Formats: sequence, structure tokens, C-alpha cells
Amino acid sequence: MAVFFMRCVAARVRKGSWATAACLVACLVAPAASASDCPGHPDALGTSRTLVVDPKEHPRIGTMQYAETLPLADHEVVLTFDDGPLPRYSNQILEILASRCVKATFFTIGRMAQSSPEGVRKLRDAGHTIGTHTQNHPLSMNRMAIERARKEIDEGIASVKAALGDDADQSLAPFFRIPGLLRADSVENYLAEQGMQVWSADFLADDWHHISSARVYDLAMKRLEATGKGILLLHDIHARTVAALPRILDQLKARGYHIVHVVAATVERPPTPTEPQQWRLHPPPENMAVTRWPEVPNFVFADNGELPAPSLSDFDLLDARPIAIAKAVDRSRPPEVRFPQVIEAGPENAAMTLPAPAQAVFEIPQGLRRVMSEIDLNARRGEQAGTSPREARARSAPARASASPHPARGKAYIANRHGRDARRGKAKVAGRAGAPAATSHRPPQVKRRNV
Ligand SMILES: [Zn+2]
Repeated sequence: MAVFFMRCVAARVRKGSWATAACLVACLVAPAASASDCPGHPDALGTSRTLVVDPKEHPRIGTMQYAETLPLADHEVVLTFDDGPLPRYSNQILEILASRCVKATFFTIGRMAQSSPEGVRKLRDAGHTIGTHTQNHPLSMNRMAIERARKEIDEGIASVKAALGDDADQSLAPFFRIPGLLRADSVENYLAEQGMQVWSADFLADDWHHISSARVYDLAMKRLEATGKGILLLHDIHARTVAALPRILDQLKARGYHIVHVVAATVERPPTPTEPQQWRLHPPPENMAVTRWPEVPNFVFADNGELPAPSLSDFDLLDARPIAIAKAVDRSRPPEVRFPQVIEAGPENAAMTLPAPAQAVFEIPQGLRRVMSEIDLNARRGEQAGTSPREARARSAPARASASPHPARGKAYIANRHGRDARRGKAKVAGRAGAPAATSHRPPQVKRRNV
């Protein structure tokens, strides 16, 4: 609490801005949950404060898509985990968070809650916030009929409530995240009518991609350093996230970041006092290139049509089919947000995600291998008989062309290939005989290696 208080004062003095009072009030109102309250883990990151929000006042948050985001102070972070519960990984995520007394928000899927209702109850029992993320995680809410979207939303809520049992109304927060962040006006309007808050995010760690846990860590920290605060979107269904999370949390602690736990306002629990400006877009740092939302977002998700309902066996595929999000903007409305776009150096990042070439790339087709052997044999015989490699090649060409698996190109391709092989053979012979390779009628060849 003292640390937060000092940060408030320092930030407001530095910026000379409007919200000093609100910030300090938030300091005083927010329940204390410092790292020192983490039994057995005196050096834990902990949860610095609880932020109570009213979804009706702020129906859409997250600077990746909206004008508003959570009213966080500098160096404050909100952790969110999507797509669970999947016991194999969600339980590990819970253990990691518990070991550091960190509270987070989980956007659960209805079908996953049906498969693992005890997993949902574990989230509740650990004191985390539970939101929903549809029943089947369709990656098409930006273009599906609103009736169908409503069904996805409603069934997802019903499934998670069924898992929670009697106290579902108290345990389930009216927080919702659209799968793939594939927003649509009609979906957002329906959620607002239901009194629900749509959560986008402030930054990602790309943990749904097939990247290493080290890369997940790097992206999380680099993007956080660029924004200085915000909502981090992760998934509790991937091994790479489990592997990256301890290091992320430890670095948050080391770099002076603080975890904020977000809960929804109720009759008994009024919202944390804030000023409207605190909810507006975080000012982008000076070193970040920005553009206008949302013509071409810099995050991509899959969209190969609506995915089938997830099962435990195929769930890793849910968020792993990349496509661009391309929701058209209603230009009759004023632009909602400025979209911070992190410019990342290309080659070194690309190298991290480029696929390794398959073994098949380097394999020579069986038929071609036989022809090449024949050519090589003919060339050697020709040389031994005093015939030039070119003549030997010409003699064997018809057989090669007819045997090629690619008749149209086989002649030229194989001839080139043979020429190289024959030259290699000649050089070898010349080298063995002690004669210079330049005795050939061709100029000396610079050896080139195609990898
Ligand atoms: Zn998701």
C-alpha cells in the first residue's frame, strides 16, 4: 500500500495532472493485499490492490480495440487467462499464481466447464475472478447472426454457472471476452444490454502460437515495457504458458511491477472511485509507433469458419489457426481508439517462428535417384573411355528424360544436375592424377552450395 501511495504521488507530481485525488482515494479504498500477506512467501510478487469496476459504466475495455481500458497506475498489471479450464495446465497455472499470491481473471469456456466443472470451482476457491468466453469458442462472432452469438454467450454463462453451483451468481463476474477478439457491434450491444463488460487486452504474449516459452516471456516483458502497464492476455491451456509464467512473474517483481486484481461491483461492493480520464487510452510511450485503429490490427487469429466444439484432445488447436481480423469499421461513428502498434524488428523475430524445413525437402525422389546414378556411371565410363562428360551426357539424355518423374522439366534439370556431378567427378579424377582442374575447356568453377 505504501508503495502504491508513493507511486501515486510521484506520478501525479510528475505529470501535474487531474487524478491525484482519485488515485489517492483508490489507494485508501483498495483492500490491502500486499506481498507481505503471502504466507510462507515473503518475497512473493503478491497482489497489490483490488480494483472494483462497474461494467455498466465501462462496457468495453482494452486498448487493443477500445478507447477505454482499466484505470491502472504506471507499473500496474492485470493478468488474464483464456480458454480453460483444462486441468493438465490450468492446475499448474493455479499453483504458480498461488505460490506468489497473485490473483488473476479467467475467461472460461462453457464446454471446458462442462468437461471439468471442478476446474471452475478451483478458480473460485483460489479467489480468482471468473468471466466467460462463449460456449464453444467460435472464431466467427464478427460475422455470425446475432441469434447464434447470443446462444453462444448465454450457453457459455449457463455452463460455467452450472459448474459453480449454488453461489454462481456471486462467483461469476459479468466479464466477457470475445473469442479471437473478433468483435462486432451487435455482439457488444447485446453484452452491454446484459450488463456485461467486454474485455479486450492491452498487450499479448502470442502464447497460442507455436513458439517457445522463452519467446512468450520475451514478448510479454517487451510489450509490457513498451506500455508500462495494462491487461495481459494469456491462455491457461498451453504448456508454453505454464513454462513462461514463473519467469514472467519473477521479472514483474524484479522490475517493480504490481499485480491488480479486478472484480465487478455489486450492491455491497461499490466501484473503486476513479476519474473518467483514468479510463481513457493510456498515452503511448514516446518510443512506440502508433496508428489508428483498427484498419489492420497487428494481432492475428485463425478463422477457418466456426470451429467444432473443443474437446480435451483437440483443444490446442482452438486459437492456433491464424487469420487476420478484419472487422470493417463503421465510419459514421467517430474513431474509438488509437491503436498502439509495436514495431518489431523483422528478421530476428521471424527467425523465431519460421518452421524448420521438413526432412522431405532434402529427399531425392526414388526414380530420380536411380537416373542420377545411371548418369554418373555413364559419365565415369565416358571419361575412362576418353569421351567428354558432355558427350556421355548427351548419350544418356533420352533415357533420363523418359525416366524422369517430371518429363517436362526432367531433361534440363537432370542435365544441369548431371553437369555438376560430372564436373565434380572430373575434378576428383584430375586431382587424383595431380593435374590442375583448369585443364577442362570450361573455366574453373567456383563451388556453390545450395542449402
Ligand atoms: Zn480464446
